Amino acid sequence: MDFIYEVTTFPAAKYDDQADSISQALEWINKQPAESGWITYMQHELARDMYNQGDSIEKIAGYFDKTEEEIKSWIKAQDESKARIQEIINQRNLPRCQKCGKVIPYGVEFTHAGTDYHTECWRKMTYGQ
Ligand SMILES: [Zn+2]
Repeated sequence: MDFIYEVTTFPAAKYDDQADSISQALEWINKQPAESGWITYMQHELARDMYNQGDSIEKIAGYFDKTEEEIKSWIKAQDESKARIQEIINQRNLPRCQKCGKVIPYGVEFTHAGTDYHTECWRKMTYGQ
């Protein structure tokens, strides 16, 4: 059966398998939470900020229309994510400048004779000022 015909005559069409599948898919989509993972993350982050600034769990729960238990679990999850992110950053083992000893944040800027330097540190060391 022609797909357009089937869709445009749904639900009157007798053989409406495709239209029925679409209908079911749309129904399923509409039942899914509207919030993306990013928005959820930002809500948790905002709740964390409100708590840091001294708002009570009760007030935050009221703001988000959630229970106090939910807000407590949001804050806990947020703290755990931050700790994990920090751990990953620490494990990256970033190269250090051999002149000033500080981390070279975006990878090696300059390598001379197998040693890493900030471009600026190497320039000062080589040419003075
Ligand atoms: Zn340096």
